[in-house]
Amino acid sequence: CGIVGILGNHEAAPILVESLKKLEYRGYDSAGIATVSNGKLDRRRAVGKLVNLSDLLVHEPLSGKAGIGHIRWATHGAATTGNAHPHLSGPVAVVHNGIIENFRELRAELAEAGIHPETQTDSETVALMTRLHMDRGLGPREAAVATLRKLEGAFALLWLFDGEDDLMVAARNGAPLAIGHGEGEMFAGSDAIALAPMTDRITYLDQGDYAFVTRQGAEIYDAEDRLANREEVRIDLGA
Ligand code: GLU
Repeated sequence: CGIVGILGNHEAAPILVESLKKLEYRGYDSAGIATVSNGKLDRRRAVGKLVNLSDLLVHEPLSGKAGIGHIRWATHGAATTGNAHPHLSGPVAVVHNGIIENFRELRAELAEAGIHPETQTDSETVALMTRLHMDRGLGPREAAVATLRKLEGAFALLWLFDGEDDLMVAARNGAPLAIGHGEGEMFAGSDAIALAPMTDRITYLDQGDYAFVTRQGAEIYDAEDRLANREEVRIDLGA
Protein backbone atom coordinates (compact mmCIF):
# COMPACT_ATOMS: atom_id res chain seq x y z
CA CYS A 1 0.00 0.00 0.00
CA GLY A 2 1.45 3.30 -1.09
CA ILE A 3 0.49 6.53 -2.80
CA VAL A 4 2.14 9.08 -5.04
CA GLY A 5 1.10 12.38 -6.60
CA ILE A 6 2.61 14.67 -9.25
CA LEU A 7 2.02 18.21 -10.42
CA GLY A 8 4.67 18.11 -13.08
CA ASN A 9 5.91 19.49 -16.37
CA HIS A 10 6.09 16.12 -18.10
CA GLU A 11 3.61 13.36 -18.83
CA ALA A 12 2.72 12.05 -15.38
CA ALA A 13 1.68 8.45 -16.12
CA PRO A 14 5.14 6.90 -16.70
CA ILE A 15 6.60 8.73 -13.69
CA LEU A 16 3.72 7.63 -11.47
CA VAL A 17 4.31 4.00 -12.43
CA GLU A 18 8.06 4.38 -11.86
CA SER A 19 7.38 5.82 -8.42
CA LEU A 20 4.85 3.11 -7.52
CA LYS A 21 7.52 0.52 -8.38
CA LYS A 22 9.61 1.96 -5.56
CA LEU A 23 6.75 1.22 -3.18
CA GLU A 24 6.30 -2.40 -4.31
CA TYR A 25 8.33 -3.60 -1.33
CA ARG A 26 5.31 -2.79 0.86
CA GLY A 27 3.20 -5.46 -0.85
CA TYR A 28 0.01 -4.91 -2.86
CA ASP A 29 -2.74 -6.64 -4.80
CA SER A 30 -3.71 -4.02 -7.38
CA ALA A 31 -2.69 -0.62 -8.70
CA GLY A 32 -4.08 2.43 -10.43
CA ILE A 33 -3.41 5.98 -11.55
CA ALA A 34 -5.55 9.00 -12.44
CA THR A 35 -4.55 12.16 -14.29
CA VAL A 36 -6.14 15.45 -15.21
CA SER A 37 -6.10 15.16 -18.98
CA ASN A 38 -7.32 18.18 -20.96
CA GLY A 39 -9.09 19.35 -17.84
CA LYS A 40 -10.85 16.03 -17.18
CA LEU A 41 -10.04 13.29 -14.71
CA ASP A 42 -9.41 9.89 -16.19
CA ARG A 43 -7.97 6.72 -14.68
CA ARG A 44 -6.53 3.27 -15.38
CA ARG A 45 -6.55 0.41 -12.87
CA ALA A 46 -5.37 -3.19 -12.91
CA VAL A 47 -5.36 -6.14 -10.53
CA GLY A 48 -2.05 -7.83 -9.78
CA LYS A 49 1.46 -6.63 -10.45
CA LEU A 50 2.33 -3.17 -11.72
CA VAL A 51 3.31 -4.67 -15.07
CA ASN A 52 -0.42 -5.27 -15.65
CA LEU A 53 -1.04 -1.55 -15.19
CA SER A 54 1.89 -0.66 -17.48
CA ASP A 55 0.58 -3.08 -20.12
CA LEU A 56 -2.87 -1.50 -19.90
CA LEU A 57 -1.29 1.94 -20.30
CA VAL A 58 0.39 0.81 -23.51
CA HIS A 59 -2.99 -0.03 -25.02
CA GLU A 60 -4.94 2.74 -23.31
CA PRO A 61 -2.52 5.60 -22.62
CA LEU A 62 -3.33 8.30 -20.10
CA SER A 63 -2.10 11.82 -20.86
CA GLY A 64 -1.78 14.73 -18.44
CA LYS A 65 0.89 16.33 -16.29
CA ALA A 66 -1.01 16.16 -13.00
CA GLY A 67 -1.66 12.73 -11.56
CA ILE A 68 -2.05 10.48 -8.55
CA GLY A 69 -1.22 6.80 -8.15
CA HIS A 70 -1.87 3.96 -5.71
CA ILE A 71 -0.87 0.43 -4.93
CA ARG A 72 -3.54 -1.26 -2.86
CA TRP A 73 -3.45 -3.72 -0.03
CA ALA A 74 -7.16 -4.45 0.24
CA THR A 75 -8.71 -4.16 3.70
CA HIS A 76 -12.35 -3.50 2.75
CA GLY A 77 -13.60 -5.05 -0.49
CA ALA A 78 -11.95 -7.74 -2.60
CA ALA A 79 -8.89 -7.09 -4.75
CA THR A 80 -10.82 -6.33 -7.95
CA THR A 81 -10.36 -3.68 -10.63
CA GLY A 82 -13.57 -2.00 -9.48
CA ASN A 83 -12.28 -1.67 -5.91
CA ALA A 84 -8.84 -0.43 -6.99
CA HIS A 85 -7.94 3.21 -6.43
CA PRO A 86 -8.07 6.00 -7.57
CA HIS A 87 -11.75 6.39 -6.70
CA LEU A 88 -13.68 8.85 -8.85
CA SER A 89 -16.90 10.65 -8.08
CA GLY A 90 -18.07 13.62 -10.12
CA PRO A 91 -15.20 16.12 -10.21
CA VAL A 92 -13.13 14.30 -7.56
CA ALA A 93 -10.38 11.66 -7.61
CA VAL A 94 -8.91 10.19 -4.43
CA VAL A 95 -6.19 7.71 -3.45
CA HIS A 96 -6.11 6.43 0.11
CA ASN A 97 -3.81 4.36 2.30
CA GLY A 98 -5.14 3.08 5.59
CA ILE A 99 -8.64 2.51 6.89
CA ILE A 100 -11.62 4.88 7.19
CA GLU A 101 -13.14 3.41 10.37
CA ASN A 102 -16.45 5.28 10.14
CA PHE A 103 -17.14 4.58 6.47
CA ARG A 104 -20.53 2.98 7.28
CA GLU A 105 -21.74 6.16 8.99
CA LEU A 106 -20.44 8.21 6.07
CA ARG A 107 -22.27 5.92 3.64
CA ALA A 108 -25.52 6.42 5.57
CA GLU A 109 -25.10 10.19 5.39
CA LEU A 110 -24.31 10.00 1.68
CA ALA A 111 -27.35 7.79 1.05
CA GLU A 112 -29.59 10.45 2.58
CA ALA A 113 -28.20 12.85 0.00
CA GLY A 114 -28.88 10.32 -2.75
CA ILE A 115 -25.23 9.37 -3.28
CA HIS A 116 -24.51 5.64 -3.38
CA PRO A 117 -21.25 3.71 -3.44
CA GLU A 118 -20.10 1.82 -6.50
CA THR A 119 -17.36 -0.10 -4.70
CA GLN A 120 -17.01 -2.20 -1.54
CA THR A 121 -14.19 -0.03 -0.22
CA ASP A 122 -14.02 2.26 2.79
CA SER A 123 -11.88 4.65 0.70
CA GLU A 124 -14.52 5.50 -1.88
CA THR A 125 -16.53 7.34 0.79
CA VAL A 126 -13.81 10.01 0.82
CA ALA A 127 -14.36 10.74 -2.88
CA LEU A 128 -18.15 10.61 -2.50
CA MET A 129 -18.18 12.93 0.52
CA THR A 130 -15.89 15.44 -1.22
CA ARG A 131 -18.15 15.36 -4.26
CA LEU A 132 -21.21 15.96 -2.03
CA HIS A 133 -19.53 19.02 -0.52
CA MET A 134 -18.74 20.31 -4.01
CA ASP A 135 -22.33 19.66 -5.13
CA ARG A 136 -23.34 21.88 -2.23
CA GLY A 137 -21.14 24.69 -3.50
CA LEU A 138 -17.76 24.32 -1.80
CA GLY A 139 -14.58 24.74 -3.83
CA PRO A 140 -12.16 21.81 -4.08
CA ARG A 141 -9.90 22.92 -1.22
CA GLU A 142 -12.79 23.57 1.16
CA ALA A 143 -14.59 20.38 0.14
CA ALA A 144 -11.50 18.27 0.83
CA VAL A 145 -10.98 19.84 4.27
CA ALA A 146 -14.68 19.54 5.16
CA THR A 147 -14.43 15.85 4.25
CA LEU A 148 -11.24 15.44 6.25
CA ARG A 149 -13.05 16.69 9.35
CA LYS A 150 -15.52 13.81 9.04
CA LEU A 151 -12.96 11.02 8.76
CA GLU A 152 -12.04 8.66 11.57
CA GLY A 153 -9.22 6.20 11.19
CA ALA A 154 -5.74 6.07 9.78
CA PHE A 155 -5.05 7.60 6.42
CA ALA A 156 -2.78 9.19 3.91
CA LEU A 157 -4.86 10.85 1.20
CA LEU A 158 -4.38 12.66 -2.08
CA TRP A 159 -7.09 14.45 -4.04
CA LEU A 160 -7.19 15.69 -7.63
CA PHE A 161 -10.04 17.59 -9.29
CA ASP A 162 -11.62 18.08 -12.70
CA GLY A 163 -10.54 21.33 -14.30
CA GLU A 164 -7.73 21.77 -11.75
CA ASP A 165 -4.45 20.93 -13.41
CA ASP A 166 -2.48 22.80 -10.74
CA LEU A 167 -3.98 21.63 -7.43
CA MET A 168 -3.47 18.56 -5.31
CA VAL A 169 -4.72 18.25 -1.74
CA ALA A 170 -2.78 16.00 0.64
CA ALA A 171 -3.66 14.87 4.16
CA ARG A 172 -2.02 12.66 6.74
CA ASN A 173 -3.34 11.03 9.89
CA GLY A 174 -1.71 7.90 11.19
CA ALA A 175 -0.08 6.95 7.88
CA PRO A 176 3.08 8.59 6.56
CA LEU A 177 3.02 11.18 3.77
CA ALA A 178 5.72 13.42 2.38
CA ILE A 179 5.70 16.40 0.02
CA GLY A 180 8.45 16.56 -2.61
CA HIS A 181 9.85 19.79 -4.05
CA GLY A 182 11.03 20.12 -7.65
CA GLU A 183 11.82 23.02 -10.00
CA GLY A 184 8.36 24.33 -10.87
CA GLU A 185 7.02 20.88 -10.05
CA MET A 186 5.67 19.41 -6.82
CA PHE A 187 5.16 15.86 -5.65
CA ALA A 188 3.70 13.82 -2.81
CA GLY A 189 4.34 10.27 -1.74
CA SER A 190 4.19 7.72 1.05
CA ASP A 191 7.93 7.99 1.66
CA ALA A 192 11.19 9.44 0.37
CA ILE A 193 11.85 6.25 -1.60
CA ALA A 194 8.68 6.82 -3.63
CA LEU A 195 9.79 10.38 -4.32
CA ALA A 196 13.38 9.42 -5.18
CA PRO A 197 12.74 9.24 -8.96
CA MET A 198 11.55 12.87 -8.83
CA THR A 199 13.36 14.73 -6.04
CA ASP A 200 15.50 14.49 -2.90
CA ARG A 201 13.95 17.62 -1.35
CA ILE A 202 11.27 16.47 1.07
CA THR A 203 8.91 17.95 3.64
CA TYR A 204 7.30 15.38 5.92
CA LEU A 205 3.75 16.15 6.96
CA ASP A 206 3.08 15.89 10.71
CA GLN A 207 0.24 13.97 12.24
CA GLY A 208 -3.06 15.71 11.37
CA ASP A 209 -1.52 18.00 8.73
CA TYR A 210 -3.06 18.74 5.37
CA ALA A 211 -1.59 20.62 2.42
CA PHE A 212 -2.72 22.51 -0.65
CA VAL A 213 -0.11 21.75 -3.27
CA THR A 214 0.43 23.68 -6.51
CA ARG A 215 3.46 23.81 -8.81
CA GLN A 216 4.53 26.91 -6.83
CA GLY A 217 4.82 25.01 -3.55
CA ALA A 218 2.86 23.56 -0.67
CA GLU A 219 0.76 25.43 1.87
CA ILE A 220 0.67 23.21 4.94
CA TYR A 221 -1.88 23.45 7.76
CA ASP A 222 -1.94 21.65 11.09
CA ALA A 223 -4.88 19.81 12.65
CA GLU A 224 -6.17 23.14 14.08
CA ASP A 225 -6.13 24.77 10.63
CA ARG A 226 -3.13 26.93 11.50
CA LEU A 227 -0.60 27.57 8.77
CA ALA A 228 2.30 25.29 9.67
CA ASN A 229 5.99 25.70 8.96
CA ARG A 230 7.43 22.27 8.23
CA GLU A 231 11.09 21.90 7.50
CA GLU A 232 12.38 20.93 4.06
CA VAL A 233 15.10 18.30 4.24
CA ARG A 234 17.43 16.72 1.72
CA ILE A 235 17.28 12.96 1.66
CA ASP A 236 20.37 11.02 0.72
CA LEU A 237 19.22 7.56 -0.20
CA GLY A 238 22.78 6.61 -1.02
CA ALA A 239 21.67 5.22 -4.40
N1 GLU B 1 -8.67 0.47 3.02
C1 GLU B 1 -8.42 0.79 1.66
C2 GLU B 1 -8.88 -0.31 0.72
O1 GLU B 1 -9.07 -1.43 1.11
C3 GLU B 1 -6.97 1.17 1.37
C4 GLU B 1 -6.00 0.02 1.53
C5 GLU B 1 -4.55 0.46 1.31
O2 GLU B 1 -4.00 1.11 2.19
O3 GLU B 1 -3.99 0.12 0.25
O4 GLU B 1 -9.09 -0.05 -0.43
